[in-house]
Amino acid sequence: MPEAALLWAPRAWTPEGWREQVLLRAGDDGRWSEVTPGVAAPPAGATVLDGPLLPALVDAHSHAFQRAFAGRAERRESASDDFWSWRDRMYRVALRITPAQLRDVAAQLYVELLQGGYTQVCEFHYLQHGLDGRPYDDPLEMSWALADAAAEAGIGLMLLPVLYERAGFGKALRDDQRRFRSSAEQVWQAATTVAEARRPLLGAGLAIHSLRAASAESIAGLARKAEGFAGPIHIHVAEQSAEVDDCLAATGARPIEWLARERLLDRRWQLVHATHTVAAEIEAVAASGAGVVLCPSTEANLGDGLADLPGWLAAGAPLSIGSDSHVGRDWREELRWLEYGQRLVRRQRNVAAAPAEGRTSSAERLFARAVEGSAAATGETRWGLVAGARADALVVDAREAALLGLPGELALDALVFSGPARPWRDVMVAGRWAIRDGVHPRAEAIAERFATAMHALG
Ligand SMILES: [Zn+2]
Repeated sequence: MPEAALLWAPRAWTPEGWREQVLLRAGDDGRWSEVTPGVAAPPAGATVLDGPLLPALVDAHSHAFQRAFAGRAERRESASDDFWSWRDRMYRVALRITPAQLRDVAAQLYVELLQGGYTQVCEFHYLQHGLDGRPYDDPLEMSWALADAAAEAGIGLMLLPVLYERAGFGKALRDDQRRFRSSAEQVWQAATTVAEARRPLLGAGLAIHSLRAASAESIAGLARKAEGFAGPIHIHVAEQSAEVDDCLAATGARPIEWLARERLLDRRWQLVHATHTVAAEIEAVAASGAGVVLCPSTEANLGDGLADLPGWLAAGAPLSIGSDSHVGRDWREELRWLEYGQRLVRRQRNVAAAPAEGRTSSAERLFARAVEGSAAATGETRWGLVAGARADALVVDAREAALLGLPGELALDALVFSGPARPWRDVMVAGRWAIRDGVHPRAEAIAERFATAMHALG
């Protein structure tokens, strides 16, 4: 039996919202077998928590190697600085990092993501080949580096090998993109090999870098291979207005419009950075069942623009969040940015709230949607504190200053909008404690290796 098979929480966030006196049981398979509110007395053998219990979230979009770059790009070196100049500088790290360094950087990141309330990460993995652009002897060397890092940290990993074949519409891959080159066949082989390894907490899906970086023929080819494939399919879709313009010029359609027109979208598809959209695109995505991944701290850091959050929320599309370039590594910051971006631009408050639906709290509505969207992003049927979902959870420290003296039903509002410190005392992944009493057992050793890798990457 997992060490914490039976938990009792005074208050827990379920698909119905806050519930009191909740008993949770995890089975041998690392999934919740029972979540029962209203159990007044904890049964013998239960671990009795004194703080609220929350579902953890899926980090739906990560490029682990970019953790090595966080903090290195906050100085403007030319007349102007934008996404594209940031990207050129980011490539300098991408061109240097070795598999061993990637493992050490990713392990540090994954510990930080656990500390930030994520228990599963979707790696949008395009850094495939050796420094000279030739495949490693094992073409999945960089993938296994990520898998080893996730296993050491104790976080779940959905590895998404990326189709990446050109620099832009009608433009050959640049030399500084040589480590990224991949065909539909290579992506399919990579996903199959990773899935067949059957490592614990490791899954495989598919990714397409973007419409600008993959041809229509190759996308169609990958979609054909993926018929009957259950895993998620992720794509960077409309992060920059320039790529929307290029897509329009090359195809006559905006990116989401093009995906809908080609009848590619279904529930497996997750549209990362669905930032620049028109109303018809949001409707098309909602009708298809596809999900949306927003990365607010990165989108702010890169000056991407603001997604139509009210539009996506109203349409009912599954919505998840990603830490992407890892300038933020805590989902509370992402939810705060989602709401604050809208407040600043509209000069209103509580934009994400929907009183007509009974949701007067922006934090609760965003969190509820992010929990639901987590399942879609990582190809799970269920996510959260509900029977059948993986037994992942966050125990809030009952001594957290943001919560002192507040009514319990305001806990999520306070956790998102008041309190910079990380409030999780314990973090559970698949029925086991990854962090206990604030301590991750591997954190110190991992941080030491991370610092060495960071020095070497200069
Ligand atoms: Zn990305």
